[in-house]
Amino acid sequence: MALDIPLVDLRSAHAEIAAEVAAGFDRVMSDAVYVGGAEVRAFEREYARFCGAPHCVGVGNGTDALELALRALGVGPGREVILPANTFIATAEAVARSGARPVLVDCDPATHLIDTDAALAAVTPATAAVVPVHLYGQPAAVERLVPAGVPIVEDAAQSHGATRFGRQAGASGVATTSFYPGKNLGAYGDAGAVVTADPEVADRVRVMASHGSRTPYVHEVAGCNSRLDALQAVVLRTKLTRLRSWNLARQAAAARYDALLDGLGVRRPTVAPGNTHVWHLYVVRVPGGRRDHVRRRLLSAGIATGIHYPVPVHLTPAFAGLGHRRGAFPHAEAAAAEILSLPMHPHLTAGQQEDVVKALAAALADA
Ligand SMILES: *Cc1c(COP(=O)(O)O)cnc(C)c1O
Repeated sequence: MALDIPLVDLRSAHAEIAAEVAAGFDRVMSDAVYVGGAEVRAFEREYARFCGAPHCVGVGNGTDALELALRALGVGPGREVILPANTFIATAEAVARSGARPVLVDCDPATHLIDTDAALAAVTPATAAVVPVHLYGQPAAVERLVPAGVPIVEDAAQSHGATRFGRQAGASGVATTSFYPGKNLGAYGDAGAVVTADPEVADRVRVMASHGSRTPYVHEVAGCNSRLDALQAVVLRTKLTRLRSWNLARQAAAARYDALLDGLGVRRPTVAPGNTHVWHLYVVRVPGGRRDHVRRRLLSAGIATGIHYPVPVHLTPAFAGLGHRRGAFPHAEAAAAEILSLPMHPHLTAGQQEDVVKALAAALADA
């Protein structure tokens, strides 16, 4: 069914940049360097500069970026990594793939970001790292995790361009990101990066991601293959020149939603003090067990919505082995039952937002 108002609008984004992308693709095809090469190096430089970070290493996707960053910091079997229970499954997968045990903690009920007190309380002698997730597009309170005394790896897959006290993820530590097509900075396929101030982490990630070698056929470590393609770098370089203005458009759209939703009976998103939010997702909470009804009503009105994410990590079959029961992380579980992501993207119009909120009000009235 063709929806009148989609959750994201990648077609409009492409229309804006189509000519530049086509010219870049021609450039790559005439050079015939498809993996790595000048386009990839140029994107890495440009994205590092955008983040205010010394180093960026492009890799195959955001999940690999996180696993490689953890491994570069020495995380592995027998160790523990602390992460929030309410994240995309990839955060937990990357920890598990590093060989370490995921140690889940609850979230703050207002911002849905990691509960930093719970994270500090979960530290043990086996803790090798903590992974705050900059969920929905605003940074977690990374500075409050410093007393844990372990490396912090920021999962910045949803927060391209967001700042906390003026600083972007990775500017002074280690952050990973995803350029999955629907992210604020999205490729035309899978892609990701590690952004860091630490030259050794950058070097280790680059070597591991390229078959453990820096010189062809000299394999220093048993690595893997997780590299950025030149064609994806072309798309990312082109979109990066729009990212600031596209994030501003998202911020304007979020402010319009905030005003339109005032008094409607849904809980609007909370932005933590010190943060700029880049609204990867605009997530409201629909209380009173009405969320699924509201979602169905919006769908029949041609309006797409999302649930990010319907099942917290500890209640997925994939991570049942961690041994947590329902009730283990009450804030994450309560959020999963109430959250609703409204259409959000840089090309969303004020008229579309009015239609979304009108349909939402009607759905709430008969719930
Ligand atoms: C998208 C995402 C990832 C994974 O990125 P992929 O590129 O899909 O592997 C990891 N963490 C979070 C929070 C994400 O939103």
